[in-house]
Amino acid sequence: MEEVNGASMSKSLAHVRDTISKYQEQYPAVARHVTVMGASKTQPPEVIASAIVAGITDFGENRVQEAEAKWPALKAAYPQVRLHLIGPLQTNKVKQAVALFDVIQTVDRPKLAQALAQEMVRTGRRLPCFIQVNIGKESQKAGVMPEEVGGLMSYCKTIDLPVQGLMCVPPHNQPPAPHFAMLREMAKQYALPKLSMGMSEDYETAIRLGSTCIRLGRVLFGERN
Ligand SMILES: *Cc1c(COP(=O)(O)O)cnc(C)c1O
Repeated sequence: MEEVNGASMSKSLAHVRDTISKYQEQYPAVARHVTVMGASKTQPPEVIASAIVAGITDFGENRVQEAEAKWPALKAAYPQVRLHLIGPLQTNKVKQAVALFDVIQTVDRPKLAQALAQEMVRTGRRLPCFIQVNIGKESQKAGVMPEEVGGLMSYCKTIDLPVQGLMCVPPHNQPPAPHFAMLREMAKQYALPKLSMGMSEDYETAIRLGSTCIRLGRVLFGERN
């Protein structure tokens, strides 16, 4: 069973990497290096281990608690792997998050930015951060509103939070391209080099529009239970 998982993940990963190479030749906006992140929520440690063996170096988890249960052992076994937080973060979980994750992709309000900056100073773990943008202005979705990104960026500068890029999850029922293009323009405006955009449904579009990090769940791991 595990071998089947590993083989199918290697195959999916090869397909994704081929797509990236093909687009790098065809489209000028494609990034030179695109990180293929495994979005590993709900996946058990043995499946994640197979994904690491298949060649995935970056993983994203949505919940601090789930990550704390799965990742300390995985990180000990595979110290080269980078773990990204891609779900909402409460300020009372900042300590655990800074201790465990390597990248925080979901900074979306000043209070959280401040708590992260303080914890990074306290621990000396200076983690690259992304600002999550609610690009489709959906009421139920996390992320800062597009018109508030400038304010949050300035605030992060004053508290010296290392923001590297922008992240988004576009509306499910709309074509993603205009949203990805808008996120790219915003990143350009603020001179941010990284763009975390693209999931199983829309990663090809995201790569064409300049994504530097695609977050893949179902394409790599199959349907979630
Ligand atoms: C679950 C999740 C993904 C991956 O979703 P798939 O559609 O399975 O590829 C990517 N990003 C975030 C923020 C997620 O929560």
